[in-house]
Amino acid sequence: MDNIKYLGVNIEDKSDIFGRYVKDKISKSLKYKFWVGRLLSGKIYKAALGKVFWKSAVLPSILHGAQACTWKENQIKQVDTLQTGIMKSLLNLPVRTAGCYVRGEIGISQHKFRDVKLKLGLLQHIVQNTEHLKNLILAEWDRGHRWIDRCKLYLDRIGLSVDDIEEMSKTKLKIVVNKIETLEWRNDMMTKSTLFYYRKVKTQIKQDRYWINNNRETITRIFQSGAVLTRDKTGKNDQDKKCQICGVEETMEHLIKFCGNFVDIRSKYSITVNTTMEDILQLHGTEPLMTEYLFEIYDFRFSGDTMDAACGV
Ligand SMILES: [Zn+2]
Repeated sequence: MDNIKYLGVNIEDKSDIFGRYVKDKISKSLKYKFWVGRLLSGKIYKAALGKVFWKSAVLPSILHGAQACTWKENQIKQVDTLQTGIMKSLLNLPVRTAGCYVRGEIGISQHKFRDVKLKLGLLQHIVQNTEHLKNLILAEWDRGHRWIDRCKLYLDRIGLSVDDIEEMSKTKLKIVVNKIETLEWRNDMMTKSTLFYYRKVKTQIKQDRYWINNNRETITRIFQSGAVLTRDKTGKNDQDKKCQICGVEETMEHLIKFCGNFVDIRSKYSITVNTTMEDILQLHGTEPLMTEYLFEIYDFRFSGDTMDAACGV
């Protein structure tokens, strides 16, 4: 017998004892990605439904046994890439959309931080409740045990010691990890020029708005996330990057606030020089008129392109 199953966790008689177990979990999530694309495509509350299914059906299966088995860093990355890809498809956003935008909108943790919470949660439970296991772990602390080494790495990452987590409550430990995740997410957003407006307003990884699965709301998300394909992004040279009407660089801001092509549309929606980008992008809350405005200029600017070609979905 070269493998055993303990509490649903498949353990193989190899150096990488959890190898197949982790791979199975990843392939299960791949199936889910396909399923989201097929079954949820016409649903009005596609994003909300997809998130519920991901959190209540897929994640528990991925996370079962995850406290105790050591995932490789690249496997954790694989789950994160997969999760971000699924969230993008739930919001009908193109692949190039910044991952931190979809995480912010759906309000979902990265697997790498989930793994920190699970592993350190188990370590905390052991050191707080089971004296003999605690002594065993401390005796093995510097002997190159994979699970312990991973815990040490995670403790370093969040700047705490075993004594610290022994002293603190479970809730406090989660708060510390969440704070670090939020900080990293904020720093990530700072590196994305497409999120210039979004990051000014969005400070928490938290679902503030229930997105509807229709063309109009998709267009709003494409603008909010800066994924709209204006010429400053697609142009190959300075000339190419210019607005064909105004002769200046066609940025998202130019398109929304200044482009001569949309003077009439802007006046129809009472948009003046004093209306802020944050208002038009609805970063402080839904404003149906602004959704309509963004849809109209998008349709006007990209008419002739299909929506798929224009936004790259
Ligand atoms: Zn223009």
